[in-house]
This record gives sequence, C-alpha cells and structure tokens, in this order.
Amino acid sequence: MSYQSPWMDADLALFRDNVRKFIANEITPHEERWDGQQHVDRGLWNKAGAAGLLCTDVPEQYGGSGAHFAYEAVILEEQARAGNTSWAKGVHEIVVHYILGYGTEEQKARWLPKLASGEMVGAIAMTEPGTGSDLQAVRTRAEREGDFFRINGAKTFISNGLHCDLLIIVCKTDPGETGKGISLIVAETRNLKGFKRGRLLHKLGQKGQDTAELFFEDMLVPAENLLGGRESQGFVQLMKQLPRERLIIGIGAIAAAEAALRHTLSYVTQRKAFGKALMEFQNTRFKLAEMQTEVMIGRVFIDHCIQQLLVGKLDAATASMAKWWGTQKQCEVVDECLQFFGGYGYMLEYPIARFYADARVQKIYGGTNEIMKELIARSMESAP
Ligand SMILES: Cc1cc2nc3c(=O)[nH]c(=O)nc-3n(C[C@H](O)[C@H](O)[C@H](O)COP(=O)(O)OP(=O)(O)OC[C@H]3O[C@@H](n4cnc5c(N)ncnc54)[C@H](O)[C@@H]3O)c2cc1C
Repeated sequence: MSYQSPWMDADLALFRDNVRKFIANEITPHEERWDGQQHVDRGLWNKAGAAGLLCTDVPEQYGGSGAHFAYEAVILEEQARAGNTSWAKGVHEIVVHYILGYGTEEQKARWLPKLASGEMVGAIAMTEPGTGSDLQAVRTRAEREGDFFRINGAKTFISNGLHCDLLIIVCKTDPGETGKGISLIVAETRNLKGFKRGRLLHKLGQKGQDTAELFFEDMLVPAENLLGGRESQGFVQLMKQLPRERLIIGIGAIAAAEAALRHTLSYVTQRKAFGKALMEFQNTRFKLAEMQTEVMIGRVFIDHCIQQLLVGKLDAATASMAKWWGTQKQCEVVDECLQFFGGYGYMLEYPIARFYADARVQKIYGGTNEIMKELIARSMESAP
C-alpha cells in the first residue's frame, strides 16, 4: 500500500526516524520492568526533554521546539507502532496546551520551560470516585482564603499521578453552580502540604503506565495558580481543549490497528496449518482484506482530522468521531488479529496480546465512546 499521509514532509520523516530510535533505545528494552513497577522510570521524561520530544508544538520562547501538531502526531504514531502505552506523554502534552492556551504570561513563563525539559511532568485530574462522565458534578472544593485556595477532595484514575509535578485540578470554586462553578487550579505538587498520592492502580492493560488516586486534604495552593487568573472559566476551558485530546486518542488508535495488522500479516505468512501457510486460507485472506480496508478508511479520516487541527478547524463533533470510531475499530481489529495467532495470541510474550490488553481502555478514557456519540448527536440537532 503506497498511501502517504498528506501532512507528512521530509523534515517530519527525519523526525520520525529519530523518534523511532529513541523508542527503540530508551523505551522498548524497559517495558517489561515498567509493567512490573507500574510506571516508567522518572528519568525517561528528562531524556525525552533533552531529545526534543516534549512540547514540540510550543513556541521556542517557552522552551518548546516551535513546530506544529504534526510533530506530536508522529510521536503518538510511533508510540502506537511500538506498542508503547507506558509513557503517558499524550497526557503531559494535554496539560501543556492548557497552560499555553489559558495561562497568564507569568504562568506560561514559569511552567512551560520545565514541562519542555522534563523537569516537570504534567497530569490533569478531572475524574473523581463519584463522577467521571458527568464532569459538572465534580465535588473537589477550592475555597479562597486570602492569597491561597484551600482544596479538599479526591481524584481517581489519574495518569501520571505518581510522577506528576504539575497537576491541573478540576474543582469547584462555586459549589452552588454546576459547570459555571468549575475552575482549573494548577498545583506544584513537590513538597505540597495536604497533597497525597494514593495507590498505583492495577489495570487490565497499559500496565507500565502510572495511574493513581490522588487526595487533597486542606491543601493550600497559591491563588496566583488559578489558570488564567479568573474563577469559573474551567468548564469552558475544558470544552475548548477536548477536540485536541480526542484526536490524540484517535491517532493512537488507528496507528495501533495498523501495527496489529502488520504483526498479523507477518505471522500468518510464516505459521503453517494443514500443510500450508495461514495466509493461504481464504478466511485469512478475506479477514485481512476487510481489516486493511477499514484501517485505511480510518487512516484517511484521521489524516483529515490532523489537517483540520493544523489549520485550527477541528470541531468537537468531528474529533469525537475520530475518538469513538477509531478506538472501536482498534478494538475490533486487534481482537480479529489475535485470533490468527491461536493460543500464542493469548501469551503476553507476543505483542498482539499486549495490543489487545492495551486497547480496551481506549473506548473508556478521554470521554467514553457513549459520550462521544452523545456529542455527535447534539451537533446534529444544532446543525442548520
Ligand atoms: C487507564 C485510565 C486512565 C485515565 N486517566 C485519567 C486522567 O489522567 N485524568 C482524569 O481525570 N481521568 C482519567 N481517567 C478516567 C476516565 O476519563 C473515566 O473513567 C471516564 O471518563 C468514565 O468515567 P467513569 O469511569 O466514572 O464512568 P461513568 O461516568 O460512571 O460511566 C459508566 C458507564 O455509563 C455510561 N454513561 C455515563 N453517562 C452516560 C450518558 N449520558 N449517556 C450514555 N451513557 C452514559 C458510560 O459511557 C459508561 O459506559 C482514566 C481512566 C482510565 C481507566
């Protein structure tokens, strides 16, 4: 198949080679150990910063590379290609874009260079034990006391929860309101009194990624850390960033499906049954042809979304389509692919087993696929 993404160019191809080498040298050899400890080594972030892999689409004045989103897309694709889910770089970059998009000049200058170098790891805490999809119902409370916010609450399932140094907290500054009472407050977590990290959670897949509970007990955060400097802007800020976040998941989904297909093609041409290669059975050929077609459709759509984002035109409904359809296809394709491996597909030493376990959560986080469909339906109702 000779398809080439229309947003790729020679510089991006060179960058892709470097990312591939970085993953081969600094990530793949450690994956098994990271699965065991349930987090990557903290030093990975510093190495990635030094290699220019953090904040690629952030202006140079804030420590970034001054490039554009296509560079982030390349990293996401290469992570998926290598089956790397332990490094929650996507979440870190989401945090970066909240700071870049809404931070005051002082906040940007204070935090972005550290996020670009890996000195700080970013996380965002929306989900609580009592609420996930219904974000407006968050109960974490921030009360203004002089120059500080006193924050109390609990968050769960937080990616980079163990390593985060900079945490965006979705909280209520006005508990009498729903969405209008939400603010985003940024906590610098190192040595912060009242900030507690809970357990690292045991997951079905993505085992090497740190996912933790977080607790805030009379935690005092300077008032100057209110993102953008104005209260009650949080819900609007969240809604505006969602297209980017959802596209990030969609990009990983299609790239993972492509990778699963590549592994499968290689297996079915070698594995023999009844005296011939699995690839010679009509069922294998037809299934692979169907999957290749669907993945190609997904690729073309994702490329369209990437191009739309690059020109600032990716809308929320289209991004939701990328997230739900991409992850749905990822799960279907990976499941079908695994079947061709027979019993070996169930063994974690085979990449396809890992692809299978890692895929399932893609339909859940970043807004569940049911919520994506709800958003698409709403956009249809409001269409002229
Ligand atoms: C590995 C992992 C990493 C995560 N990382 C983060 C993170 O970094 N930060 C963070 O804040 N959160 C994170 N999350 C949380 C994730 O975003 C939530 O799990 C997700 O939004 C769903 O919320 P919930 O689990 O409370 O499910 P619920 O909201 O309780 O949903 C349960 C079910 O009900 C369905 N449902 C709910 N409302 C509706 C509706 N209106 N219409 C139809 N169906 C509905 C859902 O689709 C789902 O199937 C992570 C989760 C996981 C598993």
